[in-house]
Amino acid sequence: MTATNLMPPAAKKPLPPRMAPETPNPRPPLSWPSVIFFGAFHGLALLAPWFFSWKALGVAVFLHWLFGSIGICLGYHRLLAHRSFKVPQWLEYIIATIGALALQGGPTFWVGGHRQHHAFTEHVNKDPYSADRGFLWSHFFWLIYPSKDTFDQHSYNKKAPDLARHAYYRWLDKYFLTLQIPVGIALYLIGGWSFVIYGVFVRSVILWHSTWLINSATHMTGYQSHDAGDNSGNVWWAALLTYGEGWHNNHHAFPKVAKAGWKWYEVDSTWWVINGLRKVGLATKVVLPPAELLK
Ligand SMILES: [Zn+2]
Ligand SMILES: [Zn+2]
Repeated sequence: MTATNLMPPAAKKPLPPRMAPETPNPRPPLSWPSVIFFGAFHGLALLAPWFFSWKALGVAVFLHWLFGSIGICLGYHRLLAHRSFKVPQWLEYIIATIGALALQGGPTFWVGGHRQHHAFTEHVNKDPYSADRGFLWSHFFWLIYPSKDTFDQHSYNKKAPDLARHAYYRWLDKYFLTLQIPVGIALYLIGGWSFVIYGVFVRSVILWHSTWLINSATHMTGYQSHDAGDNSGNVWWAALLTYGEGWHNNHHAFPKVAKAGWKWYEVDSTWWVINGLRKVGLATKVVLPPAELLK
């Protein structure tokens, strides 16, 4: 296949034959601590209009990029979950720490669940955030109705043994929440409560929903350039919110590839950073799209 016969954005391939349908397991019990945690963050984020300043908004946008693009997209996802490139160990630890600041769990938890998502994409019981269980389940119900398989240290250690063997990553898995405290204190000292509301609560809530849209929306809509064997789609607005992760059909078809946006209009700003690290020699063994598909 060459680049010229890739599907244009407007045309959508017929969906591939799906895995045999299975009845979803009953929903696990609601976790009230999770409801209170996410509810409190959303409630405090709603105070934004009373604490607005352009500087505070700038802080939220910057930390959304730093923790989202560098921490989650480049770090947790492309570097740790897929090993689509390598960096020196000291840099990997720094990047993973930035990922832990995004409040999406420790690295072993995130990577273990994500590898399970790729191994059983959209399977109603085996994909932790299967879009076949509906938008709400894949977006965030899977977090407030936690299944024992997903939220179990032993189980995600097994799915990400390469991370679980690092004492530092096991520490991050346990204590990632506490890292938010120095962030909050630093923001308070620099800019008062408006920096805290924007830099912690508004940023976290928007970053959560940005990431969750990859689990939900990009498995329900978007164009398909490749036959990935699932419903993953390339969604431009999700890609903008997630610094390139919205080119999710490209990613599911070639999960090892470090570059998610393949065409000139598939903007992938996380790739720009990976490519920059490659140019200065800090990123090596970068997995590129197959050359014959880019001709
Ligand atoms: Zn996916
Ligand atoms: Zn992935």
